[in-house]
Amino acid sequence: RRESCLVGLIGSGVGPSLSPALHQREADRHGLRYLYRLIDIDPLGLGPDGVGELVRAAARLGFDGLNITHPCKQTVIGHLDGLSEDAALLGAVNTVVFGEDGRAIGHNTDGSGFARSFARGLPDAPTGEIVLLGAGGAGSAVAHALLTVGADRLTLADTDPARAAGLAGTLAARFGAARVRTVAPAGLPAAVGGADGLVHATPTGMAAHPGLPLPVELLRAGLWVAEVVYRPLETPLLAAARAAGCRTLDGGGMAVFQAADAFRLFTGREPDATRMLTDLSDL
Ligand code: NAD
Repeated sequence: RRESCLVGLIGSGVGPSLSPALHQREADRHGLRYLYRLIDIDPLGLGPDGVGELVRAAARLGFDGLNITHPCKQTVIGHLDGLSEDAALLGAVNTVVFGEDGRAIGHNTDGSGFARSFARGLPDAPTGEIVLLGAGGAGSAVAHALLTVGADRLTLADTDPARAAGLAGTLAARFGAARVRTVAPAGLPAAVGGADGLVHATPTGMAAHPGLPLPVELLRAGLWVAEVVYRPLETPLLAAARAAGCRTLDGGGMAVFQAADAFRLFTGREPDATRMLTDLSDL
């Protein structure tokens, strides 16, 4: 438990990130001196591997921890002294904690963040058969989380078939081949038709990637839809799903709970995620 805290976010284009406000507002309510700095690799002329130099500098300057985002979540691993079980399984780190012994340990709170948001926002949602759109970083964290909390079977769909196949292989090795399969875009209607729920983990719906990630006619009452995109909070997919009568979950909960889990790792204090959810809707 720390009395003051200096942390930061390393990534590309992190300027608009809401993480500083989310962390600092929660810290204020704990009476904790807390500074959350944005460290953008682009103006520094660094690529994804430049994260190593920044992690070493942060440790030497007395930072307590770092959040890590695109495109450094994988490249940071080679510069750390250890990994949590989640980070090792995902092969991705979004939170680094510097211990008093000087060791830098990598964690991943994206999966735990999704799991807590899902349990809170779609309680009792059936998880027999779930279609996951997008097998990138967010999709991988969501997939591990869903199978960990007991989803029977996941169907992975990605416009890049190698990504879907790669994630399916990793999941099959951990959870068993019977619990995961991949589907090509042509197979989506049948997969979604037989599913209890759909999780969307592609960038579609963000300002730079407008539109819907799947044909709107695949949405129907009885299917729940969980969104991972959180900027904007209200995506075209969520609007279409609600219009079709689906239960929905926006991506804000995952963003808040991953921040709350990082806050706990940084400070040793228990964050109040409900207050942080209110902050997110105010920001
Ligand atoms: P990524 O680039 O690692 O992965 C995206 C994947 O989606 C890629 O494999 C791509 O091939 C695939 N894809 C793109 N369009 C598709 C389509 N129409 N159908 C099927 N597959 C498609 O990106 P990421 O880091 O996983 O991020 C994805 C989204 O999740 C972003 O909007 C990001 O902001 C969001 N995100 C949210 C949280 C949160 O806390 N809520 C956390 C992490 C990421």
